[in-house]
Amino acid sequence: MRKVIIAANWKMNMTVAETASYIPTFLAETGDDTEVDVVLIPPFTSLPKASELIGEAYSLKLGAQNMSAQKSGAFTGEVSAAMLRELFVRYVLVGHSERRQLFGETDQTVNAKLHAAHEATLKPILCIGETLAERDGGQVEAVLMRQLREGLAGLDHKQIQETVIAYEPVWAIGTGRNATPAQAQEAHALIRSEIGQIAEPAVAERLRIQYGGSVKVSNAGELLGQPDIDGALVGGASLDPRDFAEIAKAAKAAKE
Ligand code: PEP
Repeated sequence: MRKVIIAANWKMNMTVAETASYIPTFLAETGDDTEVDVVLIPPFTSLPKASELIGEAYSLKLGAQNMSAQKSGAFTGEVSAAMLRELFVRYVLVGHSERRQLFGETDQTVNAKLHAAHEATLKPILCIGETLAERDGGQVEAVLMRQLREGLAGLDHKQIQETVIAYEPVWAIGTGRNATPAQAQEAHALIRSEIGQIAEPAVAERLRIQYGGSVKVSNAGELLGQPDIDGALVGGASLDPRDFAEIAKAAKAAKE
């Protein structure tokens, strides 16, 4: 049984004050339900406050939106894995499509970050997904396979198993247009089968694959009802703590 994992990617939103009001509201709605892993991924500036407020809430984990592949040194503006660990960060997004498209991250950069994250015992959430042009061109499988093979290169089986994969079709991110449950399930099944080839079938069975792309309260249950969808990476709809709590509840209910 794979534990459901729901993550909130706040992107460049939410001040420290807004973070301080979000977390108690969210916890009041969910009551620290430990059957689901909930990961809050605020901007760096809100991590200390979020860490303090999460306190003893066992269901809530902290994630970062990005990290450097380097350990330390002259890398102005960057943040290392050890710095994140110091703030009790457990997860880190790697290769989000916005970082690939707007900040020039390649599969090689992503691979270096995955190695650095595992070395620091941070669990990476590796984001992969095709653009609309790639989907229309019949390249979904080829793109996902390349991003997986190059992204995960050199990791051992245990590290692969502890990586979370987020399938995020680029055309569905922030557009209001989600993949249909059938489209998402097809991609997730492909990803799981490819992980079985890269590592071994037992690793693929245990690895968690999230869907991301316009997940909201109204579609979370149906998406999470698919057998290979183990969670969701939520952008826009995670900015409202009540909506995000409803998504977490819908995800849990879909797996019962
Ligand atoms: C994301 O940024 O990872 C995302 C899925 O965004 P949204 O839910 O807004 O589409």
